Amino acid sequence: MGISRERSALLFERAVRRIPGGVNSPVRAWRAVGLKPLFIERAQGAYVFDADGNRFIDYVGAFGPAIVGHAHPRVVKAVAEQATEGFSYGAATELELALAEEITRAVSSAEEVRLVNSGTEAAMTAIRIARAATSRPKIVKFEGCYHGHSDGLLVRAGSGALTFGVPDSAGVPPEIASLTLSVPYNKLDALEQCLEANRGEVAAIIVEPVAANMGVVRPEPEFLSGLQDLARRFGCLLICDEVITGFRLCYGAFSETLGLAPDLILLGKVIGGGMPIGAVAGRRDLMELLAPCGPVYQAGTLAGNPLSVRAGLETLALLREPGVYERLDKLSSALEGGIKKALDRARVKACVNRAGSLLTVFFGCERVSTSEQAREADTSLFARFFAGMLEAGVFLPASQFEAMFVSLAHSEEDIERTVDAAARVVALST
Ligand SMILES: *Cc1c(COP(=O)(O)O)cnc(C)c1O
Repeated sequence: MGISRERSALLFERAVRRIPGGVNSPVRAWRAVGLKPLFIERAQGAYVFDADGNRFIDYVGAFGPAIVGHAHPRVVKAVAEQATEGFSYGAATELELALAEEITRAVSSAEEVRLVNSGTEAAMTAIRIARAATSRPKIVKFEGCYHGHSDGLLVRAGSGALTFGVPDSAGVPPEIASLTLSVPYNKLDALEQCLEANRGEVAAIIVEPVAANMGVVRPEPEFLSGLQDLARRFGCLLICDEVITGFRLCYGAFSETLGLAPDLILLGKVIGGGMPIGAVAGRRDLMELLAPCGPVYQAGTLAGNPLSVRAGLETLALLREPGVYERLDKLSSALEGGIKKALDRARVKACVNRAGSLLTVFFGCERVSTSEQAREADTSLFARFFAGMLEAGVFLPASQFEAMFVSLAHSEEDIERTVDAAARVVALST
């Protein structure tokens, strides 16, 4: 029994000798599920194919960008055409202007846009703008929210979260971590206490409007509006990190559909259509603090490069077609419903959190609305589920704390096959 993995195993053996852990981003190593990772050779539509020729229905979705499916013919054509015109010029282009204009059309609080190469850079840049604009040193983030791997943002919380931050990574000096305050997601009173205790010192509050990096965790009804009120009251900027949610949960910024008016918005993933990209967008007076208009330095050799921009523009054009978000929701809702039913039948204690085409099955939990509750999930049961699904031809993110991504390339039949697989797998694991 079992899929063939020989070639992947050989490649991994070679990879660990030349690449730390064999991977260029840690989740890809599959340590959280105790397996050796498969090596992927190609992807098409809703499927990925590994080095041994196995085909899987894909819910990793490149961790977010692959919303129209992999290698969509129109995106491929755009990138291929662009490649013959040169990859990057170190000079301004009409293409990057077109993407900036499209983002400002779709996102009402975005008056200007600066393109960068990753979500990490976007978050870093937004924080620098916020500090310059307010002349305040500290930032507030929420436990379990991820904003890339820059020093100041790799901070979760210790018990002393109100007064000092605790770094999540070696190599982050405590002096830097101490400028990041971390409070639980969905807990307004904790946020208020934190802002009180640091009055006049907090430049910005940064938040994922739907948290998708501790598994999917939706904001409680009053959380985001309350957070915005607190930001205004304490004179802090509001930064919405929509690197995952932007153009995925709706065309534009999801926070705006919830009635928020963020000062700065971070984008990435979908807007690059699978090519490297990130963006900071927001109010003109803030954005014009950036060099060459203002004193905040930020730059990038490949920022706004025409390959990423063409892939992004074409992806956004596909997302403007009618019924796109309804379709994503319908597919994802069928997936959610099917998995829930399978879990119920097998009497597995679990809950399914979903926002649009983002979905997480938390094993061993009745309800997850904070990172503390997420941490209680049964990761060994998740690991068994992951392994079973893989055997059944379904490729899931290899961690309990990531989202599954549904794309426009998934068919109703793909969803049905996934649900059938899940039913078999959970029935066996109990
Ligand atoms: C992925 C992600 C980032 C980081 O983006 P990279 O392109 O990986 O640097 C930042 N914020 C959120 C919410 C993300 O999901």
